Amino acid sequence: MSDVRNVIIIGSGPAGYTAALYTARASLNPLVFEGSVTAGGALMNTTEVENFPGFRDGIMGPDLMDNMRAQAERFGAELIPDDIVAVDLSGDVKSVTDSAGTVHRAKAVIVTTGSQHRKLNLPNEDQLSGRGVSWCATCDGFFFREHDIAVIGGGDTAMEEATFLSRFAKSVKIVHRRDSLRASKAMQERAFADPKISFVWDSEVAEIHGDGKLSGLTLRNTTTGETSELPVTGLFIAIGHDPRTELFKGVLDLDAEGYLVVQAPSTRTNIPGVFAAGDVVDHTYRQAITAAGTGCSAALDAERFLAALA
Ligand code: FAD
Repeated sequence: MSDVRNVIIIGSGPAGYTAALYTARASLNPLVFEGSVTAGGALMNTTEVENFPGFRDGIMGPDLMDNMRAQAERFGAELIPDDIVAVDLSGDVKSVTDSAGTVHRAKAVIVTTGSQHRKLNLPNEDQLSGRGVSWCATCDGFFFREHDIAVIGGGDTAMEEATFLSRFAKSVKIVHRRDSLRASKAMQERAFADPKISFVWDSEVAEIHGDGKLSGLTLRNTTTGETSELPVTGLFIAIGHDPRTELFKGVLDLDAEGYLVVQAPSTRTNIPGVFAAGDVVDHTYRQAITAAGTGCSAALDAERFLAALA
């Protein structure tokens, strides 16, 4: 089994690079598949990150990820900017297949494929990301002191984002395409009771405006089709996330929302030798630091698993 690696890591966000750093420092020569489109993960698409400990003046998302990547490489992690398109995780030796059809084998696999926030799929949405458009109030709320903000969505996440944002904002408008909310009663009541929060019912975003910076939205009434303007400088899109678990359906245990299930507090999945970390597991915290933390746990779990095989 000379071509069998100790560990293969699928995914390259804070979870993947941290798992790579720890397994590399443990002399396990990790092979990391970073993904072909966004090597470095979700923070490659943002501007300033102010809440990752250790950077007192903040750091740009891509710089933070370049540092993590270089740190893992420094200790010998092998990084490949390609996608894994198939996996066979059943035996003692696991196989993963890259986009060229090459099969790579390892005794342990760490899955850190992250999750994708749902988008409105409107022009300007990506261009204004980090410039008024956000998917994470915990990450970005602080930048929106005294701003007028719109939150899109009607579930628990939207209510939570709106109530969190009302601490900073001048006003928060929750825009929802129906006339009632999906959110739990407790979350709804908290939002209804908040004097800074108001609701725009039966409405969806038709256009996002701004040249370099968000300046407002055009809303469309979902029953009458009428349009109206909403001048806001913050837009938080809270319509859900999709974990990247397509590859693992029928292979690893997934929960009802499609996230990988681990035997918490460990990172073990239902298959011995396969571990998972970061946002692909976590629908609660979804932060760079928590992803990095569980990436570290996955590396330590893999290290112990491999030591027990020896
Ligand atoms: P990700 O960062 O999503 O990385 C997953 C990686 O896996 C990607 O590179 C992807 O290409 C790769 N991948 C997926 N499938 C495959 C495959 N089949 N083969 C190979 N590779 C694959 N958090 C903060 O703490 N502070 C912030 O300020 C902050 N700002 C944010 C701003 C934005 C715009 C966004 C979207 C998120 C922000 N977050 C922030 C959240 C943070 O980015 C995530 O919680 C964190 O990146 C999750 O890390 P992860 O390693 O689990 O996954």
